[in-house]
Amino acid sequence: MNSSRSLTETRFGAAFYAWLRDRWTAGLALRSDIALILVVSTTWAVLYNLQFWHLSVAAMWHPAPGAALFLTSLFVVVVCLQALLLALVPTRVGLRIAASALFLVAAASSFFASDYGAVMNTEMMRNLIETDRAEVGGLMSFDLFAHLLVLGVAPAVLVWRVTLPSSTWRAQLRQRLIFIGCALAVCAVALFACSANYAVFFREHKTVRYALSPAAPVVSLARLLSAKQKRDPHAPLIDPAGNVQRIGGISDKPLVLFLVVGETARAANFQLGGYSRATNPELTGRTDLVYFDHATSCGTSTAISVPCMFSHLPREHFDVEQADRYTNLLDSVTKAGFAVEWRDNNAGCKGVCARVVQAAYPGKSDPVHCPNSYCYDEVMLTDLDARLEHLQQDTVVIFHTIGSHGPAYSERYPPQFEVFKPACRSNELQRCTAQEVVNAYDNSILYTDHVLAKQIDLLQANASRFDSLLLYASDHGESLGEQGIYLHGMPYAFAQRVQKEVPMLFWASQGYVERTGLNMSCLKAHAHDAISHDNLYHTVLGALAVSNAVYDRGLDLLAQCRSALPASHE
Ligand SMILES: [Zn+2]
Repeated sequence: MNSSRSLTETRFGAAFYAWLRDRWTAGLALRSDIALILVVSTTWAVLYNLQFWHLSVAAMWHPAPGAALFLTSLFVVVVCLQALLLALVPTRVGLRIAASALFLVAAASSFFASDYGAVMNTEMMRNLIETDRAEVGGLMSFDLFAHLLVLGVAPAVLVWRVTLPSSTWRAQLRQRLIFIGCALAVCAVALFACSANYAVFFREHKTVRYALSPAAPVVSLARLLSAKQKRDPHAPLIDPAGNVQRIGGISDKPLVLFLVVGETARAANFQLGGYSRATNPELTGRTDLVYFDHATSCGTSTAISVPCMFSHLPREHFDVEQADRYTNLLDSVTKAGFAVEWRDNNAGCKGVCARVVQAAYPGKSDPVHCPNSYCYDEVMLTDLDARLEHLQQDTVVIFHTIGSHGPAYSERYPPQFEVFKPACRSNELQRCTAQEVVNAYDNSILYTDHVLAKQIDLLQANASRFDSLLLYASDHGESLGEQGIYLHGMPYAFAQRVQKEVPMLFWASQGYVERTGLNMSCLKAHAHDAISHDNLYHTVLGALAVSNAVYDRGLDLLAQCRSALPASHE
């Protein structure tokens, strides 16, 4: 479905390019600013919104005159609204600058909407501004480059080749005000004429509007920036956790927690959760770990999920804009006397690690572990032996992995982990067969299995010197082409289950089990309970025998299976 749409766009692109070339040589004379605005807006509506029209028709079409009238009116409304974006720019030069910039935005967003089913909401814009060079590099392709050149750069330049009759700024302003009034009136008439259809369209098919190019990314970015603007950067940190206490489980031996934050691993492809392929050959053999097979994530993107996983607030009350105003799990653990260290082989900790020791790995010149833009996750273990050898203090190490980050799944694992073949080697997933995409993705899960097993082995090898535990949870899942959707980041309410169902697992050393009176059989009996990222904050506190003012025993996954319980503060 997607590749044929891409092909159609390419053909459209070729015809459009020929037209552009003619206009380039002949120049394009238009009668007024308003004519330019309408030409640009109509071009966007027709050429840059194939995904928007595809989704709108799929959502609203039925063979009746009312549906035809609605879709016609929707076209008019789209042209008018996007024209208003331009009409609001006061000067002619400003209009040309805005039109050029928006052609580039429209070209990029139409590419990702069509090829990946990407949704241009505020979360996508947040991912965009919080990304890093390596992540951007992972998305670059010849197709994207060609698309940007033909549908972005060429028309952006052409806008400057348009000749307009000279007129005073007063006349231009008057034209614009009249046009704005008319456009709003046309929209009002269209909305009124098909009001029932619009009510359904806006209420039941909210995601469709996020495919509109270039309005959706522009409006979403403006919303995100205005929310950020409202924040007072000097506001003091709010500490809902209050006093922190160590309760029970005291021992001469240090306590070590490996908290592994997975990336883009979806529960559906974990053998431990019943997946038919052997993606967890190393962990499946272990009887000393518990795999939670009904876990859901807080968000569908790293930018939401990671801060949420470390927040005391449940998903329902979590607001990512407010997250860094509050102290988080790591602050309480630090206060309780633990050495806390954040190891990042991803695009940063999204503010979570602001007050703890950090180490970043992407871009390291390590030919074994870092042949690509990102390193393989084992890079975070390279100096760990030495670190553990001298360990005296209770310690928490967070591993922020690159896991199964797409679309270049095949770059996430060393060649010897390419077990499922043939694997998609392109970052343009549409160029691979569905099976090749799944093969590459499964290889990345296989490698995650290996890294986790290695981390557990490392802790076990030190069992005589310290007690230890490991908790793993992926930040969100992934779509692998289901209904033409790839990657992740859909609005939570509409996201496919595969983007929200994540693997979570727990392992503890024998010493830890004895020290805390943890009953692993009891925990295994609860392995099928419906749990979520909401449980993480409280489970980690409880597991480390730490209590604070917001610790909720009801959300601590280990509480009911442990005899030496930290008391709830309530
Ligand atoms: Zn992520």
